[in-house]
Amino acid sequence: MTNATSQAVLTVQGLRVEIPTRRGLLLALDDVSFTIAPGEILGFVGESGAGKSLTGMAILGLLDPPGRVASGEIRLGERRIDQLSQREMRRIRGKEIGAVFQDPLMSLNPLLQIGDQLVETIRTHLPVSQEEAVQRALALMRAVGIPAPEARFTAYPHQFSGGMRQRIVIALALCAEPRLVVADEPTTALDVSIQAQVLQLLRQLCRDKGTSMLLVTHDMGVIAETADRVAVMYAGRIVEIGAVEDVIRNPVHPYTRGLMGAIPSLKAVTGPLAQIDGAMPRLNARPVGCAFNPRCAYATDQCRAQSPRLESHQQRKVACWLASALPVKPAELETE
Ligand code: SF4
Repeated sequence: MTNATSQAVLTVQGLRVEIPTRRGLLLALDDVSFTIAPGEILGFVGESGAGKSLTGMAILGLLDPPGRVASGEIRLGERRIDQLSQREMRRIRGKEIGAVFQDPLMSLNPLLQIGDQLVETIRTHLPVSQEEAVQRALALMRAVGIPAPEARFTAYPHQFSGGMRQRIVIALALCAEPRLVVADEPTTALDVSIQAQVLQLLRQLCRDKGTSMLLVTHDMGVIAETADRVAVMYAGRIVEIGAVEDVIRNPVHPYTRGLMGAIPSLKAVTGPLAQIDGAMPRLNARPVGCAFNPRCAYATDQCRAQSPRLESHQQRKVACWLASALPVKPAELETE
């Protein structure tokens, strides 16, 4: 992906998100940079509070005030979108960027029939007649695996199961054929048996339509099954980013190694992240130097004094002073 930036659907460069409080300024995202190519699925993973959902919200223009983009750029294709008005961002959301959140009821109006919600969204964003919008909505319901869509067109959200509701949300997110979908824990609220189906569906729809996806999850299994590349976040920064196979098979950053625990192979990646001793620092208590240093077995004086930048290393980027000095394959991942 040499000219990824020039072709990228999404380019995030040096993104910094601050939250002003009475006790001072909190730094929630610090120097976050990445691109997503057409049709590519980039997963964001990390413990709760790492900044992965905030990254998605910043792209969608949905940061909760007083949180704000303090510096950096977000570009959709060539167009810069981090300085647009709320009105302009509303137009971009839905038309060019679709969103799928953990709770389908956040995206659905409980008082409106499912068919009407789809038709209304389609007609808001696409120049089609009522009849064309109805046909398009039915086709989308079919595409996301809603059985007998004609019969369910007039049903209300509460008449669907959780899995079916999330399928409708995916249909809503895709109905204006966006270039990018931001999916934040899209399957976390669903039964395990339904999770794999919904992930497969999202992946397939993105593949079929060439849609790119930013997938936020706390589950490395979801990343292994769904994403092409993965960005590992810690304390508001990307600490490792690369192809899923490289990062999962051979994690370099000590935090990524900790998350992967003793998982011996990509196929065995099925569950939530491993527990690492200690806790992610609070925003107002970020340690000096590398934010991971209090939990890192390899920490040196340099780690406690200076924050490492994200730099190229073994076909990925890593933010660790010791990236080149650590063993290539960590002992805990060696197979017997
Ligand atoms: Fe550990 Fe130092 Fe690397 Fe941070 S920079 S992850 S403290 S070795």
